[in-house]
Amino acid sequence: MVVHLSDELAWIEECYPIDDELGHKHVSVYVLGDEQLVLVDSGSFLHRTAIADQIETLAADATIAALVLSHSDYPHAANVRPFVEQGVELVASSGSPAQQGLPDATKCDIGGEMTIAGRRMSFIDPPLADRSHTTWIFDHGTKTLFTADGFGSRHQPGSCTATSRDLESGIPPAAIESFHRHELPWLRYVDPERLRMALAAILDEYETAWIAPCHGHPIAAEHVRDYLTALINGAEAIATERELSE
Ligand SMILES: [Zn+2]
Ligand SMILES: [Zn+2]
Repeated sequence: MVVHLSDELAWIEECYPIDDELGHKHVSVYVLGDEQLVLVDSGSFLHRTAIADQIETLAADATIAALVLSHSDYPHAANVRPFVEQGVELVASSGSPAQQGLPDATKCDIGGEMTIAGRRMSFIDPPLADRSHTTWIFDHGTKTLFTADGFGSRHQPGSCTATSRDLESGIPPAAIESFHRHELPWLRYVDPERLRMALAAILDEYETAWIAPCHGHPIAAEHVRDYLTALINGAEAIATERELSE
């Protein structure tokens, strides 16, 4: 389903159930622009047809100009080929796209910025990632921070298409902690305070209207503080479990 977050920002919501206890996991694609579209990530092969249909609808009066990948693992890059075959410019958020099996991709410099289809985009070294060769992407036009595997959360059936604005009590802290415990297991070795400072520094530098994670509810600016509190509390709980088990 397509959810319009602002004039030039659409969220293609896709998700799949993990189990009854853990709920669902988002694997989202975002689309920027109105006439010249820039896709951020390409989604999972599980949702290939649904994503293609939704992009086709969004592109009815527009051109798909570029596809920017936050990283190249399957949930983010499984549907790249058809776009490349259509002549869509592929931008890999990596210093070495060839190593990632994307030899034709335009390379972005992490820490730098580029203009892609007329949009000014910055590439940020992320403090929260599931592997190397990942970047967070900031679109200056819509003030959106695309955080790949960062800022994720699980969700329950019934709230698949909800943004933070649609959830009466906000994104449940337990859903944020559950995501990080299962998806980013290295967090148990991280000092939560240093993580908080690294995230706060990015949010200070980039004034953000939306945080757009691949694996979670989009987070509106007014809910970022609550999300961060839940994330750091979760990181502290995860780090404490490691100390107890040693
Ligand atoms: Zn991911
Ligand atoms: Zn769902």
